[in-house]
Amino acid sequence: MADSGSKSSTSLRGNSLLHDPVLNKGTAFTDRERDALGLRGLLPARVHTQPEQVQRVLNNLRSQSSDLEKYIFLTALHDRNETLFFRVVMENAEEIMPLIYTPTVGLGCQLYGRIYRQPRGLFVTAADAGRVKQVLKNWPQKAGLIVVTDGERILGLGDLGAQGMGIPVGKLSLYTACAGMDPSLCLPVTLDVGTENEELLQDPLYIGVVRRRLRGAEYDALVEEFVAAANEVFPGVLIQFEDFANANAFRLLHKYQDRICTFNDDIQGTASVALSGLKSAIRITGKSLADTRVLFLGAGEAACGIADLVTASLMAQGLPEAEARKRCWLVDSKGLVTAARQGLTDHKRKYAHEHAPIADFASAVNALKPQAIIGVAAVGRTFTKPIIEAMSSFNERPIVFALSNPTSKSECTAEEAYAWSKGRAVFACGSPFAPVNFDGRTFVPRQGNNSYIFPGVGLGVVACKARRVTDEMFLAAADTLAGMVSQADLDQGSIYPSLSRMREVSAAIATRVADVAFARGLAGVPKPADTAAFIRKNMYEPTYPSYA
Ligand code: NAD
Repeated sequence: MADSGSKSSTSLRGNSLLHDPVLNKGTAFTDRERDALGLRGLLPARVHTQPEQVQRVLNNLRSQSSDLEKYIFLTALHDRNETLFFRVVMENAEEIMPLIYTPTVGLGCQLYGRIYRQPRGLFVTAADAGRVKQVLKNWPQKAGLIVVTDGERILGLGDLGAQGMGIPVGKLSLYTACAGMDPSLCLPVTLDVGTENEELLQDPLYIGVVRRRLRGAEYDALVEEFVAAANEVFPGVLIQFEDFANANAFRLLHKYQDRICTFNDDIQGTASVALSGLKSAIRITGKSLADTRVLFLGAGEAACGIADLVTASLMAQGLPEAEARKRCWLVDSKGLVTAARQGLTDHKRKYAHEHAPIADFASAVNALKPQAIIGVAAVGRTFTKPIIEAMSSFNERPIVFALSNPTSKSECTAEEAYAWSKGRAVFACGSPFAPVNFDGRTFVPRQGNNSYIFPGVGLGVVACKARRVTDEMFLAAADTLAGMVSQADLDQGSIYPSLSRMREVSAAIATRVADVAFARGLAGVPKPADTAAFIRKNMYEPTYPSYA
């Protein structure tokens, strides 16, 4: 259908209307609309339906020669016709999500200054200290959800400064595509506080402020001013912190999570999707979560976030905290994190258990004999053949999650995990891998993609105007997602549902999250009789309104 049939009005006419990406319908403007809105002659004569427009977009998209070209093409569509963009993404999620988010967005950010066409989102620079509120007031809409980055740890690619803007932009597109978050509520923000990336500092086409990173008290003051101003200009706004370097990410989360409506997706969203994966994986291994020792390669935001939520889940099952924490072990660049190690940060210290020092991951695998290994160190090719073979020697069904992004940082490929374990690995990945044929079986590895979690959590929080985002909400999200994995999924080695079910998954998660908010007295609206229906009513549909 080209039109939803819902009537809408606009004061825009002619060219101005065609160049407004929110209102533009392109060739789908009907004859009546063309007469009424001064469009006659400004468009080719033939009126196309939205499905026909979708087909044209897909033909064009598929004829682009590289993923980067596809990213640029889709960005241009987003800038031209927002409704059509979201229709295309929603109907082709498996094909398009990797183009607008990981892994392609990584390259998009690295080259942001080179491929830059149009601004999107709001840049708050170090020089804006003292006037951040005015900058936020320049945003033309009332934001309900901000995704903010300072660009210091973009995926596994490090410091990309202001070019990290690709991340909040992409993430908010996923919010709308996956959960039907109203795009008019979404505000991407980059805190452009400089960069330590020499290449960017030397690049004449770099888009950010050319300076070294703001640090210390001045940095904290700018973040504080931003948080306060955002809550003043957009009261109750949900602020999602994204791709901050890990010292700042943990600090800022702890500073703000009990003060404002906020969460950090790299820590909490990752935790929820990984916990959900573990819950599904143990349906295959036949062990309980309490009987599953998890060894992480990496001890940063993702690893500690996952370990914290696994602990919370075990504690909810009745395990004492100290016992629960002992299920998780960390290996960082210095080796196994043990109680004797000096100078550990607080987030690592919680998992520093008594053990003799071990210098490398392979030795730690052999010493600890874990049931699950989770790779989140952003160092590629680290789950080697001997490691997967060792895991397979003491586990009938070893759990192997290679979660580092983008693809080049993946700890191993899906093919390697299945081949080296002789088809026994229960595998999940951070970046997408194609199905693998091994020994007459076809395995369909699925991504432990945060997009299963954060869009539903955000939608639930924004819809019920929750004042806080709590761990209980992320536990509920993990549980809901795991509950949507069918036996048929498990039989083909998939521990997540198909990406094509994303809207259904997000709606279910949003419903559970809103119910947590209602139950805990955190919601800003009265509890509806039917939370699921209330959530569905809040979901945006990319259908054109009728203007005449
Ligand atoms: P981070 O910077 O907070 O943590 C990285 C950790 O790896 C640090 O503890 C560091 O000490 C450790 N490390 C670095 N080199 C190492 C080495 N050679 N051996 C062992 N440890 C080493 O980053 P993060 O947010 O935790 O993200 C890490 C990776 O996980 C990234 O590639 C990111 O894209 C990926 N990730 C994937 C998902 C997902 O798939 N859903 C979600 C979040 C993060």
